[in-house]
Amino acid sequence: MINHATIAQLHTDMHFSALNVAHITPEILAPVLEQILAYPEVTLVQSFTSFEQRPILHLRMGTGPVKILMWSQMHGDESTATAALMDFIHLLCRQTEYNFNDWQTRFTIDIVPMLNPDGAAKHTRVNGQFIDINRDALVLQSPEGRVLQHLVSSLQPDLALNLHDQNAYHGISERQHTSTIAMLAPVADHAKHITPVRKQAMQLICAAQKVLREYIPNHVARFDDTFSPRSFGDNIVSQGVSTILIESGTFINDPHRQVARKMNVLTYFTLLDALLHNKYEHYTIEDYFAIPEHQDDVYVDLKLTDLLIANTDHPFTIDITINVDKHGSTNIEHLGDCHTVKGFKELSLSGYQLISDYQDLQPDSAANLIFVSPSGLLITINELLST
Ligand SMILES: [Zn+2]
Repeated sequence: MINHATIAQLHTDMHFSALNVAHITPEILAPVLEQILAYPEVTLVQSFTSFEQRPILHLRMGTGPVKILMWSQMHGDESTATAALMDFIHLLCRQTEYNFNDWQTRFTIDIVPMLNPDGAAKHTRVNGQFIDINRDALVLQSPEGRVLQHLVSSLQPDLALNLHDQNAYHGISERQHTSTIAMLAPVADHAKHITPVRKQAMQLICAAQKVLREYIPNHVARFDDTFSPRSFGDNIVSQGVSTILIESGTFINDPHRQVARKMNVLTYFTLLDALLHNKYEHYTIEDYFAIPEHQDDVYVDLKLTDLLIANTDHPFTIDITINVDKHGSTNIEHLGDCHTVKGFKELSLSGYQLISDYQDLQPDSAANLIFVSPSGLLITINELLST
């Protein structure tokens, strides 16, 4: 029996602090992997090769009959779960006094911590061929996609965990909470049939989210289940493997997604526990669909409200929403009434004056805007973001 409060505390005490970064590259991961590979419980099964000849490591723990396959960073710029996987292995291997030693004879856990090292090195979603590996499941033109399909075919896991990061602006709309963890039992066809393996994934998600709600109530969601035949999750379900997509997202004042990282670790342990003790079979399909679905574009990085545009024959008031991309560039998202959107930062521009040309306010353009404050100071967007 796993006590999740103990896991949460152990994670606080023992996580790899070197992985508390915005983005994990192969270089940042290497020393942690070296430490992990020194554990006698961890086997390096094989080192595959990416398009640009970087190693893709396949690790294994345990010898038990229940087989779990987990992979992270298929999208090179989504590394939250990579840190979580390292923490998970670390806790499993170092804390045998908490009776985790059972797991070695119950489970075989296969892990690919960084499926797309080329994208990780360059901070891109795509691989070295500029292919989105998660749209390559049918044609398998990427070496990384072939690695994943090979593992699924050869291992025939009982459960596959497909680990990603979600868009920072997803939210849970009714109360405008951030979506810190969203999960999905992917579908195998357009009709979204609920096959036995999909039902099991739904039930396991319910078991995991029950635990997560004790830590981050209102920040746990169900991911959109539109059928995506080129994606691996949907494809693996159609091969008869119970599959769960876990999407890590933002939490309040948590730019490196460390809350989502911890929630991933809790989820992995909860899933082991649920499988071991059949603590999921009482959940129903209705329980799964009762989980709130995440929504797109609930959040923006900066929301500016109540700006009076006065130098015109017909003065009017607008809100402006602005996002910052991963390169630090600011872009205008929307103009006008933005009250349904929530800003990670929100500022009233009441009493401010726009100095820039009004033409510079066009949505989808760079937010190179300058204002004058009520006290007469010139202020740029970057200064507003850092206030
Ligand atoms: Zn992704």
